[in-house]
Amino acid sequence: MRKPKIVILGAGYGGIITSKQLEKLLKSGEADVTLINKHDYHYITTQLHKTGAGTAADRQIAMSIPELINPAKTHFKKGAVSSVDTTQQVVHLEGGDTVSYDYLLIALGFDIETFDIPGIKEHAYSIRSFRSTKAIYNQIIRQLNLYKEDQDPSRLTFVVAGGGFTGVEMLGELAEGLPKLCKKYDVPFEIVKIVAVEAAASVIPFFHKESIQYTTEVLEKFNIDMYMGTKILECTPDKVVLENNLEIAAKTLIWSCGVKGNPIVQNCGLPVEKGKLPVDTFLRVKGKNNIFSIGDCALFMMDEKNALPPTAQVALQEADVCAKNIVATLRGGDLKSFEYHHKGSVASIGVWAAVGKVGNFRLSGLFGAFMKQVIEARYLLNLGGPSLIIKQHFGVSKEPVKMTANQ
Ligand SMILES: Cc1cc2nc3c(=O)[nH]c(=O)nc-3n(C[C@H](O)[C@H](O)[C@H](O)COP(=O)(O)OP(=O)(O)OC[C@H]3O[C@@H](n4cnc5c(N)ncnc54)[C@H](O)[C@@H]3O)c2cc1C
Repeated sequence: MRKPKIVILGAGYGGIITSKQLEKLLKSGEADVTLINKHDYHYITTQLHKTGAGTAADRQIAMSIPELINPAKTHFKKGAVSSVDTTQQVVHLEGGDTVSYDYLLIALGFDIETFDIPGIKEHAYSIRSFRSTKAIYNQIIRQLNLYKEDQDPSRLTFVVAGGGFTGVEMLGELAEGLPKLCKKYDVPFEIVKIVAVEAAASVIPFFHKESIQYTTEVLEKFNIDMYMGTKILECTPDKVVLENNLEIAAKTLIWSCGVKGNPIVQNCGLPVEKGKLPVDTFLRVKGKNNIFSIGDCALFMMDEKNALPPTAQVALQEADVCAKNIVATLRGGDLKSFEYHHKGSVASIGVWAAVGKVGNFRLSGLFGAFMKQVIEARYLLNLGGPSLIIKQHFGVSKEPVKMTANQ
């Protein structure tokens, strides 16, 4: 008898955890599971700022997908999804390859929101993927080297746009990483400028005022120039133009001002709302009983007005329920409604400080930094057990991550 085909698009937080859960839930030979991702490594998105600042080894951030899954239970296919034909039940990949499915999970993640600000798409660097943050690191090294040739101070000005969680994490990491890089490349760190620009009145504006104050103080101690309540109007290769007739001469703008659903979802012949796939309480794309979506490309409404935010925490909780619901659909059983439980969020500000809230407790300082490590370690344990943590920290890997220009 023909086995049903389950196809998972995207091996980020949502996709890879769903495939690992399916490995546990499905009986031997019950279904064929194929996981498709555009590169053959899974990256820890919540740690990408470390790749950008060069404060973590590549193996700590990106890990080989074939080493994370059980190849006897999940077939991994490297390929970039270009569209989905829901009538024929076929996924189209760039290059012309196709994969047919009976049950589909779309977990293709996010893309960067530029708000159509001139020059951002062309000249700014984004914290979007392992490759895009590697490009930030390469840009920093390039500017340090070029400074030695022309002494142009704008090469040593690094602007981070966006003072939300990701922006604060990037700022903290630059403050920790740049002194070491300057030493290595023989450039005086005293003339390096790190600049934060945020349209709201403060960094992490959605947080309690004590957390805001703490974060501001840490960033100021790092000598970061803060432009709060200031919008960016344009980015060119040589400057960042701000409102109020301000300009910053800089060749590096790191853009961290928000995300939107992966635009590929527009090519799936499915309903799209706010750039995402609206899902029902069982995580099925509305109107489709065999297509699920989770994570940053799914729109899950908690009530009439509020959607779940695009966070790893949401994607991981959805993955557990989604795997169960795919199996229940396949077996003709009852589906489980998804309920989100917010456990808190913690942002690092360099290695030794962090800020956030876990349960009802506000965290900051060294304890916050410790909790951030605990949260990250929990994810790795879930993903690959203690052996993955050992591999990551001691560099034991059968297949080192390879990057090509197209990834
Ligand atoms: C720097 C940073 C820090 C963050 N910190 C936190 C945090 O502390 N806590 C928290 O909860 N959240 C955090 N987030 C948000 C969190 O990382 C995302 O919400 C989470 O990654 C979403 O998971 P996902 O599975 O939807 O997408 P992703 O994890 O983005 O996975 C999508 C996958 O799909 C692949 N893909 C994309 N397009 C294609 C295609 N066309 N074909 C094939 N494959 C494709 C991608 O390569 C990727 O592997 C942070 C994000 C960033 C950028």
